[in-house]
Amino acid sequence: MKCNKCQNDAVFSRKYSGEELCSPCFSNSILRKTAKTISKFNMIRNNELVCVAVSGGKDSLVLLHILDKMSKSHNFRIKVVTIDEGIPTYRNEALEIVKKFCAKLNVDYSVYSYDDLFSITLDEAINVRENEKISSCSICGTLRRRALDYAAKDIGANIIATAHNLDDTLQTFLINMLSGDIKKIGWMDPDTSNNTIRKIKPFCEIYESEIVFYAFTNEIPFQSEQCPHMNEGIRTEIREFLNSLENQHFGIKNNLYKSVLRISQIVKDSNSNQKQLCTNCGSECTGKICSVCNLILMLKEKQA
Ligand SMILES: [Zn+2]
Ligand SMILES: [Zn+2]
Repeated sequence: MKCNKCQNDAVFSRKYSGEELCSPCFSNSILRKTAKTISKFNMIRNNELVCVAVSGGKDSLVLLHILDKMSKSHNFRIKVVTIDEGIPTYRNEALEIVKKFCAKLNVDYSVYSYDDLFSITLDEAINVRENEKISSCSICGTLRRRALDYAAKDIGANIIATAHNLDDTLQTFLINMLSGDIKKIGWMDPDTSNNTIRKIKPFCEIYESEIVFYAFTNEIPFQSEQCPHMNEGIRTEIREFLNSLENQHFGIKNNLYKSVLRISQIVKDSNSNQKQLCTNCGSECTGKICSVCNLILMLKEKQA
């Protein structure tokens, strides 16, 4: 089978579009699609510094690979930040991979640890949680959000780029739907250009399976070992459900994504006049105090 764009042999078949692509044409298509998402949602402006959150997993290293390429032709700058949660055996390997990759690309790199920022490691946080209904991933995600805000400020960036892909977006949407959390769906609008710190997700329109293939075909090293806490929570079930739907109905994830975009914009607009800000840190939230401040306070109390 030949590539649809050139004379090379095809190595990737994109089921939802019917395209057959060779490795360079496939990589170019991911680069172009990412650039399109960035401009569609005004994610990055001229000359800005972007804080790229890199965990050492495939998605974030591919994001770094692509943003590094793009920064040279699109006139913006990048610096890399890794958050060290304090999961000893798991995180140390990842830190090494990120460090080496950044050195190869000649990109600035710094590490911020939960221990330094919150005086608590994830393992300690998991041990003190009072309510088993809070999964490790949600504790970790909450702490990571706060750590990234701090890190971005510290390196002088107003933009935080994370590697969340289309699959992550759909999972989050369904989790919010299933838990009745309509307000949070309004926060899923990818256009955050009016916020002071912009959280951008340049891969929000790209299938996870295509990011895996990009990492493979560009020989990007990444940590393949999964986080030891990963299988807690409903996200894994939803992920498998969506993958099995996609296998039977190519492109169904793209369709759901279109609905997520529309719905998140409608919810955001209908809530725009009743914005609530956390009395402790000033970020947008559903109650008086945001979930991040809430969790940190709870852990501090438990620990004391
Ligand atoms: Zn080709
Ligand atoms: Zn807060």
